[in-house]
Amino acid sequence: MAKKKRLAIYPGTFDPVTHGHLDILSRAAAIFDGIIIAVSKNSTKKTTFSLEERIALLKSVIKQKRFPCPITIETFSGLVVNYAKKRGARILVRGLRAVSDFEYEFQMALMNRHQASDIETVFLMPDEKYVYLSSSMAREVAHHQGDLKAFLPPIALQAVRKKFSS
Ligand code: ADP
Repeated sequence: MAKKKRLAIYPGTFDPVTHGHLDILSRAAAIFDGIIIAVSKNSTKKTTFSLEERIALLKSVIKQKRFPCPITIETFSGLVVNYAKKRGARILVRGLRAVSDFEYEFQMALMNRHQASDIETVFLMPDEKYVYLSSSMAREVAHHQGDLKAFLPPIALQAVRKKFSS
């Protein structure tokens, strides 16, 4: 019997991409047959990097790494479940960090299930060293010229430093 390809969507803001995002991506790539990184266009969050900048950073970081399945980068607006359906995907990947993520992610996963019961959210936990890492924390540290080498890929580190030096 031909095996059905399991395509997963990894949605987020990626403002900017961090080693935490890449950790989740690597774990997901080891499970699924293809992953679409879906960069949110209509996030209620005010972003530091424009959509184009966030995509460009993701693209160059992904290009430098090897993953066990194909990874593509796209953008979406509106409900992520509608976007997943349009792309023929039934899996949403989300990262789960410390307890603080749980309430919001749980709420969102159940609301998404209410909208589309055939789409499942899969949570993956990052390496411990990224459990307290977020793009917003990285931006905050960059703003004060702190050390981020362990947390951001070099190109994102450069971009974030440039952003806050101007
Ligand atoms: P969003 O606005 O959708 O939360 P983010 O870019 O902040 O967008 O995060 C996208 C996804 O990546 C989320 O599921 C988030 O939990 C996950 N993520 C972000 N940083 C980390 C990290 N350090 N470890 C694990 N998952 C992470």
